[in-house]
Amino acid sequence: MIELEQARHRLEELGLGQAAQSLDAKLEAASRSQSTYLSFLNELLDAEIQERQRRNVEVRMKLSHLPYRRTLNEFDFSFQPGIDERLIRELAALTFVGRQENVLFLGPPGVGKTHLAVAIAMEAIGQGLPVYFVSLAQLVGDLRKAYEENRLDKRMRVYLRPRILIVDEVGYLPLDPLAANLFFQLVCARYEKGSMILTSNKSFGEWGELMGDPVLATAVLDRLLHHSHIVNIRGNSYRLREKRKTGIYSTPGAQVGQNYPGASGSN
Ligand code: ADP
Ligand code: MG
Repeated sequence: MIELEQARHRLEELGLGQAAQSLDAKLEAASRSQSTYLSFLNELLDAEIQERQRRNVEVRMKLSHLPYRRTLNEFDFSFQPGIDERLIRELAALTFVGRQENVLFLGPPGVGKTHLAVAIAMEAIGQGLPVYFVSLAQLVGDLRKAYEENRLDKRMRVYLRPRILIVDEVGYLPLDPLAANLFFQLVCARYEKGSMILTSNKSFGEWGELMGDPVLATAVLDRLLHHSHIVNIRGNSYRLREKRKTGIYSTPGAQVGQNYPGASGSN
């Protein structure tokens, strides 16, 4: 028993906390199954490694600022039959990240744009890729403050570092000239260097108005769309489905999605 305590203590001293904690159970299992010393050792180290990986994912999850946790398995593709499930699964396999391509989810509120962006982000985090999630309003607010305090370059790095930058809710608020310019700078800096995932309720034709400057909007879209996958969601709001079922909510402009150009797919 003293030996067991000693071993546990040493594991702890070496910083192998999980191995120390599972020592008892692993010893017992090993003696029950009469496993070799080697396989016991591997089992013990594996427990430590798995716990570390879990903690790493947890830390990266916190650093990513995701608004909620949703996986692809939680997404009901049958509710949104217009979505190309194969394309979404391909995106979740993350090859677009290695190619520095962008993903744009377009469509009216509640159709799952943020959910899908988050689900892809969770896959990336699980694979050790740094991800950062921010709404466009937060992003330009933050960059504006940094600009006014003369530390734009430093702050910009926060948005350049992650392998995937998710910019959510592009289009809910129009941008003033400084905000539009800061967003343009960011898109230029990430162009062909790191992937972005954007969600927007606006069609590309409306970006001129959104950015207050059609020339700037064209320049932004030019870079964003050059290597990109566009997922156009035309269906009904998932948030309102229960209400719709009970007849409380009758879809005004249910076909808002028809304003969105292009078919779902990649270019
Ligand atoms: P938006 O398109 O406005 O970003 P969200 O992605 O935030 O919409 O979706 C709104 C809510 O509905 C979220 O809780 C999301 O998980 C859920 N949701 C949307 N579409 C689906 C779907 N097809 N299957 C399951 N949940 C969905
Ligand atoms: Mg959203």
